Amino acid sequence: MDIGSLFTQAARHAAKFREARSNGMQRAENDYAAEIALFSADLPKSGLPAEQVLEELVTKASPGLQLMVGPRFFAWVVGGSHPMGVAADFLTSAWGQNAGNHVAAPAAAAAELVAGQWLLELLDLPREASVGFVTGATMANFTCLAAARSAVLRARGWDADAMGLFSAPPISVVIGDDAHATVFSALQFLGLGHDRVVRIPTDRQGRIVPEAFENACAGIHGPAIAILQAGQINTGGFDNFRRLIPAARRCGAWVHVDGAFGLWANTVEARRHLRAGVEEADSWASDGHKWLQTPYDCGYAIVRDADSHHRAMTIAASYLPMAEQGERDPSHYVPELSRRARGFATWAMIRHLGRDGISAMIDRNCRAAALVADRVSAVPGIAVLNDVVLNQAIVRFGSDSEPEEADRMTDSVIALLRERGEIFVGGAVWRGRKVMRFSVSNFQTDEKQASWAADAIIRAFHDVEGG
Ligand SMILES: *Cc1c(COP(=O)(O)O)cnc(C)c1O
Repeated sequence: MDIGSLFTQAARHAAKFREARSNGMQRAENDYAAEIALFSADLPKSGLPAEQVLEELVTKASPGLQLMVGPRFFAWVVGGSHPMGVAADFLTSAWGQNAGNHVAAPAAAAAELVAGQWLLELLDLPREASVGFVTGATMANFTCLAAARSAVLRARGWDADAMGLFSAPPISVVIGDDAHATVFSALQFLGLGHDRVVRIPTDRQGRIVPEAFENACAGIHGPAIAILQAGQINTGGFDNFRRLIPAARRCGAWVHVDGAFGLWANTVEARRHLRAGVEEADSWASDGHKWLQTPYDCGYAIVRDADSHHRAMTIAASYLPMAEQGERDPSHYVPELSRRARGFATWAMIRHLGRDGISAMIDRNCRAAALVADRVSAVPGIAVLNDVVLNQAIVRFGSDSEPEEADRMTDSVIALLRERGEIFVGGAVWRGRKVMRFSVSNFQTDEKQASWAADAIIRAFHDVEGG
């Protein structure tokens, strides 16, 4: 096998996909059934040369690829897999470092160490915090809450890592009604239960109502975890950290913040107030593959007390090299043992954009969201339901006086936009009613793209309205 020509062939296909389709249709040509038909085959008895397999893979996959990396994909906060991050990720795969341990994989461990320190600075979180490089914010929430669970029980003399939760003192978990679904999943995975929580009511922007939170905290005696949010997935709203964190402290709770994309508001001076006080929490979950634009899978579990983080994630085996005193091993802060060297892509993205480039990108995306919200809400019959403080807008079509009809109309506008493939938007239910989700998180999305998107939305609305 000629490695050089094989890798070049892969890179050529990658570039072709990105260049040819950078402004293309926001719709895959093939649907799922068509792709299954293409991939379906009996288990191969004998192999094929690598070059041929690569061609076959490209031929089968290409028609079923959604342009999620394009500037007009707005359905979810997905980031854009920036070419810089992709290139670093190619190398990460090619280098094949099993990035668990600093003795065996020194470059991978060092890149994580430095990228982790850069992240703490960018997000302005305590510099002594530990950073675990995980697959995404779901696992970041899981990892942080595992550290929380162990720490609050250890403070009561219970070793949950050794003894589990059986006969442990019960933990009170306080969480906002509009927390992200994956936080509830993390609670489920950790034996804390997604329903065995105290849910606090939220306001119109999905933010925890402070009085209700304070009342709930006042009633807590015993180990407790409070879960707050920086960047609600529909509205982009931030909890009031300045007020909520001290209230949680008064009842001795560990405070965790889900900030998958919202924590990045810190990089833009005009948006920094949104996250004021968030640095007072105990742990934070964030993503690299959203606003930092690294390829999937990349998230960060950040814990103020590195020792709690380490204890909750420790994997010890006699055949694994032990970390020397004071040295950081990547695997000590994540659930996995064998893992890709996620630090390389993070390091490369921060090195490429720099603090200024990251700030400009986040700002550009926020302005794009605001522009769309302004343009569409000026049209009679279209309403933006949230304060567009960040990169999220939720949009509803039709009349308030006929909510069922407006639900149908909202669904129809989303369906028409998807069919046309000009932009890709999402749908959701907000306060019991259908809405269109509009999230901006791609490095290429600027006000020009936003203006184009606003036109597409308004056009689709008029077409649906006109029947
Ligand atoms: C995306 C998101 C998550 C889950 O993150 P993944 O990277 O998809 O695992 C959690 N919380 C919020 C607020 C998110 O936006």
